[in-house]
Amino acid sequence: MVDALKLKIKTLPFGTHAVECHLDESFFNTDEQFEVRRADVDVTLTVTRKSESTFRLEISCKGTVTTACDRCLEDLDLPVDVDYRLNVEQMGTELDDSNDELLIVPSDWRELDAAPLVRDTVLLAMPMTRCHEDDECNPVMLDLLDSHCVEAVPDDDDTQESETTGTDPRWEALKKLKEQ
Ligand SMILES: [Zn+2]
Repeated sequence: MVDALKLKIKTLPFGTHAVECHLDESFFNTDEQFEVRRADVDVTLTVTRKSESTFRLEISCKGTVTTACDRCLEDLDLPVDVDYRLNVEQMGTELDDSNDELLIVPSDWRELDAAPLVRDTVLLAMPMTRCHEDDECNPVMLDLLDSHCVEAVPDDDDTQESETTGTDPRWEALKKLKEQ
């Protein structure tokens, strides 16, 4: 919960107001699609009340998000430097967030929590491929992951057995372990 991001839209004076806050990993951890190990992000949220029912929001996020490298699983620091601007209009009775540039919120809302907007702004700016540069992966981890891949291929001695039984020798070993 970040109180600074809760905008009192009914009582906000006309004009431009800026709030600043710092976000850590606890802010992002509600998202299961993307593992955020650590976060150190400064947010500036600028709100301009243009009329009784129209607002302009500017979200600016800068900092670092640490996630897992897809290749070596070690920490991967991703720089965050993203801005998002949108208009907000209060009307009707239903929330409509289908438009990227115009958010419609019900007329009777007294408060608009910008936290989900900020969260999406940061997470949507993350690259699809999340890997260290080619030679910057942890070599120990790569070796470890590599050796697991090699173990997964039965070596020559096992080939005979697995052909006759049709069972992967590793599953057989697991079964024996379970039966004990
Ligand atoms: Zn890596």
